[in-house]
Amino acid sequence: MPFVEWSFDIRSGLLVGAFLTLLTGAVLAVVARAMPAIFRPAMNWWVAATLLQPAGFVLLSQRDALPAWVTIVVANALIAAAFAAYAMALRRFHRLTVPHGLLWGMVAAAVAVSIWFGLVQPDLTPRLIAISIVLAAMLGYCAWTIYRGPDVRSLVRHVAGGAFLLAAVIMAYRALVLTWDPGQVSAVFQLTHVQLLTYGVGSVLPVVATVGFLLLCTDRSQRELERAARMDYLTDVYNRRAIEELGTRAIASARRHGTPLALQVVDIDHFKHINDELGHASGDLALVRAVERIRECLRTEDILGRLGGEEFIVLMPNTDGDSAVAAAERIREAFSQRPLDLRGERRKVTLSIGVAVLAPADRLFSQLLQRGDRAMYAAKHAGRDLVMADAMSGWDSLPD
Ligand code: GH3
Ligand code: MG
Ligand code: MG
Repeated sequence: MPFVEWSFDIRSGLLVGAFLTLLTGAVLAVVARAMPAIFRPAMNWWVAATLLQPAGFVLLSQRDALPAWVTIVVANALIAAAFAAYAMALRRFHRLTVPHGLLWGMVAAAVAVSIWFGLVQPDLTPRLIAISIVLAAMLGYCAWTIYRGPDVRSLVRHVAGGAFLLAAVIMAYRALVLTWDPGQVSAVFQLTHVQLLTYGVGSVLPVVATVGFLLLCTDRSQRELERAARMDYLTDVYNRRAIEELGTRAIASARRHGTPLALQVVDIDHFKHINDELGHASGDLALVRAVERIRECLRTEDILGRLGGEEFIVLMPNTDGDSAVAAAERIREAFSQRPLDLRGERRKVTLSIGVAVLAPADRLFSQLLQRGDRAMYAAKHAGRDLVMADAMSGWDSLPD
């Protein structure tokens, strides 16, 4: 049985693609209003791309009805500008530098070859080859930007990245096929497999890529919310909730591997005086500076968190009591020997630090924390600017 005779009109395909792109762009423009403001610049560029590309497609479809400079030069300029706008959106989204010269240079190249092979020396095949090469480079650049972007879940990255990559490959394929067999396409809307692939993908790309871009945005905002829920907004260390979770995990890991686990409770002495004398803003700055200085004294595997107010916690995996006390002494000295710089105001700040290690009886993180807290209060009572170890931790050797 013969296959049904079918025909596909590339012009109609282009117009449908243009309409779908406009529609997705409109959806994105509406959704953009509900997204965090930091995505706005990237989204605006993307919406611009979804306006430019359909405009180019509509003009392209009017070949023979409108003058060549409109259907060739302006149409290709609009399409290249749309791809530049996608790239701008993606660079901004990933907070990467925007190479204006490169992008608008590529648009200029598309315009130049359109003028040369469209108006000056009209010749379809070299024009299609040259335009395909320029557009393949731009699409490839978009794909590359997506794949080199930081911290995007791999699955999400493949939707937008894959769409651009596929489109780039098809454009490059068109350039290759036409170079190999220049007689392939004798009229711009001739239904060959290359033309069908090119315009088919050109029409579908913006829809898939826009969905992919929206996924990138929602993925990013979800990650940032997750991060914000775990971090202290002022000092950017773990907050109490995250520390309790990490502490519970560290206890489980220490038990499983039979390794020691130490904890320090670090409290700033007479912090109220800083607030009272220098103001609350300087108090906030002192907390930020204090965190910086504590961090300088820690190893990368140590986990720093803020329990609340001016009280911090350091979880030290794989660390025994003596080492934890020695580390606490280093932190204490780092403060008592060098004042903090609070916007030109130099202020000596001291710490009271309590150290506890995981004991066989400890089941919960709160038990370990309670003993660290008790040791810290013992340091306060003994006169502040001191490190004290918790006697119940099963070891009580303190370096003098
Ligand atoms: P001690 O040596 O006994 O620890 O005395 P202290 O003044 O450090 O401790 P106290 O608990 O009496 O006071 C803590 C102060 O920390 C009170 C509170 O206003 C201040 N504080 C808590 N959180 C913040 C904050 O986020 N920013 C600022 N600027 N101050 C804070
Ligand atoms: Mg205090
Ligand atoms: Mg306190």
